[in-house]
Amino acid sequence: MTGKAKAVFLDRDGTISYEIGFIDRVEDFKLYPYSAESLAALRSMDFKIVIVTNQSGIARGFFQESRVMEINDRMHTLLKNEGVTIDGIYYCPHSPEGIVAEYVKECTCRKPDIGMIKKAETELNLDLSSSIIVGDKLTDIECGHNAGLKTVLIRTGYGKDEEKKLGKSPTGVQPDVILDTLKDVVEWIKNEKL
Ligand SMILES: [Mg+2]
Repeated sequence: MTGKAKAVFLDRDGTISYEIGFIDRVEDFKLYPYSAESLAALRSMDFKIVIVTNQSGIARGFFQESRVMEINDRMHTLLKNEGVTIDGIYYCPHSPEGIVAEYVKECTCRKPDIGMIKKAETELNLDLSSSIIVGDKLTDIECGHNAGLKTVLIRTGYGKDEEKKLGKSPTGVQPDVILDTLKDVVEWIKNEKL
C-alpha cells in the first residue's frame, strides 16, 4: 500500500455536462442526468473525483475567469444537491491564440499537457498509475496518455466526431476503451477490476 488514492479525472464540458460551446451564462451549465449517480458510484469504489477542464474562453476574451469559477461553483452545488462531493476542480485559462494578454501563453496546464494532473497528484496525494481519465476529446486522451493514466473516450459532447479522428492525429494515440457515456465508465471499471 502506498497510502495514495486512485482518481478518476474527468473533463467537464461534454463529459459530465452538456457541451454547448463556450459557456458564458451560469444557468446554461447543465449536468447530464446520469452524472451525479455515476460520480457517486465511482466514489463508492474509492476513486477521488477530479475535474480537469480547458477554459481557453478566458484567454480568448469570451468571458472572465470569475465566470468559470461561478460555473464551477454551480457544478459543485448541483452535484452536492444530489449527494456527491468532488475532490478537486482544476482549469486552464490559457491559450497561445488568446487576446487577453495575461492569459496568452504556452502553458504546461492546457490539455494535452499534464500540468493540471501533476498539480492534483501532489495536492491530493494520488497514485496516477491506478488512475483513469475520461473525456470527449482526443486532447483528453493524449493528456491521460502523457500522464500515465488509463484513458476512456466517451461518445457524448464531441466524442463521436473525435472517434472518427482516431489514428489520424499526429500522435496516433488510442484510448484504452471507447464508451457511450460516463454511465458506462462505471461498469467498465467494475468489469476491469480497476
Ligand atoms: Mg470536453
